[in-house]
Amino acid sequence: MNLVTGKVALITGASRGIGRAIALRFAQEGANVAFTYLSSVEKGQALEAELAGFGIIAKGYRSDASDHKAADELVTQVLADFGRLDILINNAGITRDGLLMRMTEEQWDTVITVNLKSVFNLTKAAIKPMMKAKIGSIINLTSVVGLRGNAGQANYAASKAGIIGFTKSVALELGSRNIRSNAIAPGFIETEMTGELNEKAIEEWKQQIPLKRGGQPEEVADACLFLASDLSRYITGQVLQVDSPFYIVHYTLENVSDFSKFALVDSGLFIGRGRVCGGDVSANTRQCDTGRVGSKSELVAGFAAVCGG
Ligand code: NAP
Repeated sequence: MNLVTGKVALITGASRGIGRAIALRFAQEGANVAFTYLSSVEKGQALEAELAGFGIIAKGYRSDASDHKAADELVTQVLADFGRLDILINNAGITRDGLLMRMTEEQWDTVITVNLKSVFNLTKAAIKPMMKAKIGSIINLTSVVGLRGNAGQANYAASKAGIIGFTKSVALELGSRNIRSNAIAPGFIETEMTGELNEKAIEEWKQQIPLKRGGQPEEVADACLFLASDLSRYITGQVLQVDSPFYIVHYTLENVSDFSKFALVDSGLFIGRGRVCGGDVSANTRQCDTGRVGSKSELVAGFAAVCGG
């Protein structure tokens, strides 16, 4: 299809996982690919050679996305090497999990700096040439965790939620310059990042997913390709979930006939949407913020509060 032929894409954190899959997919579709890595030097060098095999221009740069000056220098170098920059994919990210009670300042700062400040750093540097060329597509990797939170990931969730606000603001600021800004929110994707989770947690997550399997990096890369290509030319400021949602089935209030079969998800978000989570009660309970099934009276009270009834 060659959806991005001749365009220049810069992808941060492409030595492995989702970033690597994006780099390969874009090369396959004819883009020239600039990418970064930080600690995985050998993997970065190997990827450069693999990408060149597609007959495109490819170059890897060892660059810390969380370093403002380094990001600026990187974009200058990419422009010198490639002559233009059409697509920026802010993919680099890390986790430093722990319950808030035990989370250190260092864990908080590191995640916010690597995940969120990096997006500011690269975007700020990239929009200069994009504004000049009056074209650009910026895609930021957020997460479903940024939309709903996750126990043990307050730092990660905050960084990913911040990315969503940033993405939407950039869309509003730069839409008139023909620069689009969108985010992708993957759910559970099988990479080294999620490989750190224990077997039991992984199995539990999978059971919550309608397709009963984790996503593959290539499936995120396809979504990324869509947002980078002209197929999405009238789409900006959006968050595309690539997650086969954990929340399983949702029923509108009208569809709920037997409340005893449903777990109330104790979160303003769900009540605010006028929905309850249905299906397997024990599975849903694990998704409840309260860790327990709510009662019918709590459900009705929740709806009454939201609907003003
Ligand atoms: P991963 O396998 O751990 O790979 C992370 C990549 O980021 C590596 O290439 C790493 O490079 C790079 N990186 C880390 N810190 C960096 C820095 N300071 N500067 C430049 N590069 C840096 O992660 P992944 O699972 O592919 O995730 C990619 C993105 O998707 C992340 O933003 C993540 O939060 C998001 N995401 C992932 C999932 C999932 O289920 N996997 C779900 C939702 C969102 P080096 O190895 O060279 O250090």
